[in-house]
Amino acid sequence: MSDSAELPPPEVAFRSERDVARGLTAAYVLGLALIAILAIVSHFILNNIIFDQRDAATVINVAARQRMLTEEIGLLATDLHAGDETARAPLMEAAALMRRSEDALVHAGDLGISHILQLGQRQYYYEGTAALDPAIRTFLDVVQRYVKPSSAEDGEAAYRSLQTSVRIMLPPALDHAVSLFEDEANRRVDWLRTVQAIVLAVLLVTLVLEGFFIFRPLVRKVQAHAKHLYDIATSDELTGLANRRHFMDHAQRAWLLARRNKEPFSAFIVDIDHFRRVNDFGGHEVGDQVLRRFAEIATDTLRSSDLMGRIGGEEFALVLPDMQSEGAALVAEKLRQAVAAERSETLPRMTVSVGVSTVMPEDKSVEDVLRRADVALHEAKRAGRNRVAS
Ligand code: GH3
Ligand code: MG
Ligand code: MG
Repeated sequence: MSDSAELPPPEVAFRSERDVARGLTAAYVLGLALIAILAIVSHFILNNIIFDQRDAATVINVAARQRMLTEEIGLLATDLHAGDETARAPLMEAAALMRRSEDALVHAGDLGISHILQLGQRQYYYEGTAALDPAIRTFLDVVQRYVKPSSAEDGEAAYRSLQTSVRIMLPPALDHAVSLFEDEANRRVDWLRTVQAIVLAVLLVTLVLEGFFIFRPLVRKVQAHAKHLYDIATSDELTGLANRRHFMDHAQRAWLLARRNKEPFSAFIVDIDHFRRVNDFGGHEVGDQVLRRFAEIATDTLRSSDLMGRIGGEEFALVLPDMQSEGAALVAEKLRQAVAAERSETLPRMTVSVGVSTVMPEDKSVEDVLRRADVALHEAKRAGRNRVAS
């Protein structure tokens, strides 16, 4: 066929189509994998935030308890100083808990704390003359000295030192430690939330890009391919008219509809006259060109809603729902004249004969109508061709 020269060979076209589809599918899978990875990352960040929040809450809790323990120690020491011996054991317990809490805060690994001191906190706890950790440990030693004094004077001195720490020195220092832990927790959560927002944005952008650049082209490819397959299955390769099977499906449906609605229904068959001669003199190639030219003339002459089918080599058929045989004959005559009036520099002149028929009550299918059209066509041929017979 002549027009196939402009197109790549079918297997090459198919391979490149397949490569494109493969590429798109691979990109689609890759995009999905990226989305999955982002979702996992997002999950871990969220997990981290939750874990961090819990740890931060524990740290802040323990730090705040240090403040309460100093107050408790102060009160118990006052009671003990006033001679209340029942205060001694709780006082020692409070001091032991305060030491344990201090160890947990600065070294982690106890009381549910896994948080290690950050730079600013470490400085506050260890550096300078007002460092908190030595101050607390000195205070606890003083408590120890007070509970088990080496002498009465030593006990009295320890008591005064203890009360000074409890009233003046420790409370603001411990408050500040709590606020340091709080600030750090907030900073960290803010940072994680920013990262989380970025991950979410990347996720959404990936989804949108995937939709636009992968999913949509993929769907279009599939749609185009489906249309291509439909065209191949329903049309005649040479003329582009409906192929025999598609035409017969359409004709049968139109016939059934007309019968149900009790409407008139006609059909005609067109056959090119002396077509064998065209082939014999001009070759098969010219014969094909004539067939294509005929299809063009028919398409131009008929309504766009008419479905003409190529039912044989140089035979074509048309069904005309809602039309009596006189009307159908007029349409056929118009087509015959248009073909006969055709003048071409490259193609031989052509004429067609047409056989028209109309539906009869005893018809069992559209084939009965077409059979009578064929009989009429042979009459037209016998009567000298280039004419319409009913
Ligand atoms: P008439 O119909 O007027 O009686 O004469 P005719 O020469 O057209 O007769 P017939 O219908 O018997 O011949 C049909 C010829 O059409 C036979 C075949 O060589 C030719 N033909 C059928 N299909 C094709 C085709 O696809 N391409 C070409 N070039 N020729 C075809
Ligand atoms: Mg024929
Ligand atoms: Mg013929």
